This record gives sequence, C-alpha cells and structure tokens, in this order.
Amino acid sequence: MVSNAHSGRSHRRILAEHGLDRAFGVQVYSDEVGIRKPNPRIIELAATALGVTADRCWYVGDTLDRDVVAGRRAEVAAVVVTRSHHTDAPPFGVAAEPDAVFDTPEGLADALEAAGPARSPVRTSIPAAKPARAALLIDHGGVISHSQPDPDAMGEFAAEVARRLTGAGEQVAPAQALELIEKGRERHHLRKQQRHRAHVETGAPLAEVQPVDFWRDLVGAELPERQRAILTAEAFDLMHLLGRAKSRRILRTGVRELLETCRDAGLAVVVVSNTINGRAVRAQCAEHDLDGLIGAYVCSDEAGVRKPDPTIVREALRVAAADPARTWFYGDKPENDAEAARACGITHRVIVRGGSTPDETVDRALTSGLVTTAVPDAGQLAALIAAEHRTDADA
Ligand SMILES: [Mg+2]
Repeated sequence: MVSNAHSGRSHRRILAEHGLDRAFGVQVYSDEVGIRKPNPRIIELAATALGVTADRCWYVGDTLDRDVVAGRRAEVAAVVVTRSHHTDAPPFGVAAEPDAVFDTPEGLADALEAAGPARSPVRTSIPAAKPARAALLIDHGGVISHSQPDPDAMGEFAAEVARRLTGAGEQVAPAQALELIEKGRERHHLRKQQRHRAHVETGAPLAEVQPVDFWRDLVGAELPERQRAILTAEAFDLMHLLGRAKSRRILRTGVRELLETCRDAGLAVVVVSNTINGRAVRAQCAEHDLDGLIGAYVCSDEAGVRKPDPTIVREALRVAAADPARTWFYGDKPENDAEAARACGITHRVIVRGGSTPDETVDRALTSGLVTTAVPDAGQLAALIAAEHRTDADA
C-alpha cells in the first residue's frame, strides 16, 4: 500500500475494519514517511520493505499525474490504473500512460494471477513511448512567479520552530529560532555554490539538499542532541512549512496566456523546478489557479538533482514523451535553465528578462548561443509558440 494521505492512521483503521490489514506486506503513507507521490522514492521504499526491487512490482493507482508518473519514475514492471473520477478527467498534458486500465480491481486479480509470481518483469515487453510531442518545460521561481520575502510568515514559522525545539529545560525564543534558520539557509546557499562549481568542473551529479541534511546538519549544526533529534524527526514537515513561509509568490505577466496557448496548441506543460520542497511549488501553482494547465511537476527535491544537472530535464522530457527538437525550455537563469536544456538537445532555450539575471548576462548568453531567445514576459513567448505551432499545423 502506497498512499498520499493526510492521515495514514485513519487509512490503517479503515483497512483493519475491513479485515484487510493483514493482506498488506507494508503500508506506506506520505504523512508518516514524509515522501509524496509522484516522488518515486515512496514506491522504492515499499518495494525494499517487501524485499524486492521496484522492477519486480506492479503499481496500481488511479491518478495519471501522481500514480502513473510515480510508477514510471520508479521503473516498476507495470503501471495499472483502476478507473475512478480521476482517470476520467486527467489533467492536461501528462504523457505517462498506464500499461493497463481496469474498471474494477476484479480484472486486476485475474491479470496478476495470469502473470504468475515467477514471471520476469513485463516492462521489457512494453514499447517505450515515442518521443514525438512538442512540449513546454517551464521553471517556477522567477518565471511562473516572482518571490517576495515574507517576514511575517517567516516570523510565524520561526515561532513554530521555537515551540518545537523548546523542552527538557531548554527554552528557545522565536528570535533564536529565526537566527538558526537563517544561518542554516546561508550554509545551504554556500554549499549549493560549491556543489554547482564541482558539477561544472567535474560533471559530478548536482544533488539537491534533503530535508534531514538541511534541518539536522545545516540548521541544527550547533544544537544539542535532543534538539537535533527533533529536527531529524520533523524535517519533512518543517521543509514544507519553510517552502511556504519563505516568500510570497506573485504571478508574472502573461503566464496564464502562455499556458493556455500551449493547451490550445497541444503542447505538454511540465514544471521543472529547483526547490527545497516540490509540495510547496504545487500548492503555489494551485493558488494561482494554474494546476489545470500544468501536466506534471519535476522538482529537484524529489528528483534528487538540481539544474543544471541535465538528469532533471531528461526526466521532464520523459514524463511528457517530448521530442527535444520541438520542445521549449522557459527559464530565468541561463547558467541553470539554458545549460540543462542545451545538454538535453532542447532547441528553444528561452530566458525571461526582468528577473534575477542582469540584462548584460542574458545578452552574453544570446551571443554565445546558449540562449536562443530572450523575452520581456511570457506573453511574448506565447506569441512565438502560437506562430511556430500554427506553422506546424499548416504544414
Ligand atoms: Mg528560476
């Protein structure tokens, strides 16, 4: 059992009430393990707990953007969907397809029986989707939305951290907690720069920071063992709260128009974001009422690596079954966004001006050919995509 749940405990109770709890080798709930689908690690954890590898498992779900995408990323033997209201109204643009769809779990039982326990992974018999589609891969920070520091939200968050750290004769004030968090973020920033340099120089994978490393080792570096244990235990929840508190997001001009243009032209849309918390990115896009226009999210904390490591962009191309030659990458940092896109052979590498990158840097990247187009806002990119894909349709 692998479930995104607000309360794994209540799911466990329901299964027990139906006498089904003993039928499961392990139950993995997102609220208990701090990993949510479509992060493939949640499926890998379940497989490991069952004593097998993911490629020996079938994964059964009912949502395309979470279950099917998670199953594909974990490289399970087969992804099966049982029909529900989610499957009948899938979000636009998810190219990941299940190997089979069943109306009820009944048909599934027969299929599993037919497959038999000793059969080799069925994945080998499934042809890979042909990467033929055009797609828009879009960055989040600075591109979909600008961030504005939110000191009030950070103050509230620091008070919450202080409350959690206080105990056993150790009193932590909100101001102290805020200082710890800021120091942790500074260390994180320095480490990001070091790792970026190492990636550029040696091609070493550019790992994204994981919650426990951030909270226990970067924020809690100088804290006593008891407080470090609290940070270890609550790291996943704290990372989500930090992701929400650190900034207010302001939607950039033309983004909705751009995504609607992609929908109308049949381009898959995948968000590719360097972030400490993909869950917060999804929530922010939902708050801007964009989630219906976004097919999937590939976030660095879930993918394990950050841009400019091309692995994360390759994953987005795979999720969208996109042809890099017909794909647009839209970002705000040439050295992260355009570099990763170029390494994956993506033709259109578009950078928006007016963000964190000075105009001169954008101009240099245009001259060198790293960036193919610079636009003042997403509306202009919408016009370019509309023109290009109208030509496609006419041809
Ligand atoms: Mg950005």
